[in-house]
Amino acid sequence: MAVIPARYRLALHIPQTYLTREGKGAVRPQTYSRMILDSWQGKMRVRGAWILAMCLLGVSCGHVTAPALQESPAPASSGRPLVVATTSTLAALVRMVSDDLAEVRALVPIGVSPETYEPTPRDLVALSQASVIVENGAGLETWLAKVLGNAPPQARVLVLSESLPVAVAGRPGEAVNPHFWLDPTYAARYVSAIADALAAADPRHAAAYRANAAQERKRLAALDAWIRRQIATIPPARRVMVTDHDAWYYFDRRYGIQDLGAIESSPGKEPSAADFAALVALARARHVPAIFAEPEFSPRLAKELADSAGITTVTDLYDDSLGTTPALSTYEGMMKHDVMTIVQALR
Ligand SMILES: [Zn+2]
Repeated sequence: MAVIPARYRLALHIPQTYLTREGKGAVRPQTYSRMILDSWQGKMRVRGAWILAMCLLGVSCGHVTAPALQESPAPASSGRPLVVATTSTLAALVRMVSDDLAEVRALVPIGVSPETYEPTPRDLVALSQASVIVENGAGLETWLAKVLGNAPPQARVLVLSESLPVAVAGRPGEAVNPHFWLDPTYAARYVSAIADALAAADPRHAAAYRANAAQERKRLAALDAWIRRQIATIPPARRVMVTDHDAWYYFDRRYGIQDLGAIESSPGKEPSAADFAALVALARARHVPAIFAEPEFSPRLAKELADSAGITTVTDLYDDSLGTTPALSTYEGMMKHDVMTIVQALR
């Protein structure tokens, strides 16, 4: 019996004995959530009934309408396995490994924060059809545990942060900063874990997934070296970042940028007047060249901070979510855009 992340136990009050693990990083809170649903709703297997059950478990059902229920995504076409990732950024990492051998979908739309996301009935349908479900874990998608019961019994749940060494990611369920993927060396570990999960779910193409992953790890190593060269062009005293939220911790640590703080101390939580004033004072004292904002956050506070500290605001940093343009639709494209944005603002 594997150790189950505490957030699953907390979210569903699941005794560990009700959980099983299939393969590396696969956690299955399935059985117990089914028991809850069965006792509440009888033996329901009809999709509409599942969605009603998810509403009872607290999933946002504001968008449940007859058309929404009918508008189920088509099952994975031509026999390809369906891989459902929580965020667009993680889906981009999955696509690097799957190429076109699997159908890949993201639950959280582009431009929406995964930390404060409310799953929709459409997400439940996608989960119900998935062969592999990919989440970051480490507290990024706290809403997922309550909907995982909708996954089919054969679906593998891959918790990517659990593929990192415990010294990096902490013990499962421990509170850590979840934004590991912004360090390309951790993204490379994610790629390996994704290849293992896809190979297990679709053994016919196991060799192709592993070959793709090997190639992508080389690209990520090249990306890492490129980022290092770019950051080296910023004068050392100007290598400081203040951001909307705490996404850049691992990136900053890898490339020697000082992370001075974030406007939101936790997702969706605005700072107190005192915290905000302290951040303004710090930004002034350290001559921070710019405040970095992200499209999924309101620019109001970042602009207010920048105005108070007399510095500029950069509004288009992508991290939890990809962007909408082709250049921002891949992990590498997103990272290169971000690095150039950071370098231009700080240099
Ligand atoms: Zn985030």
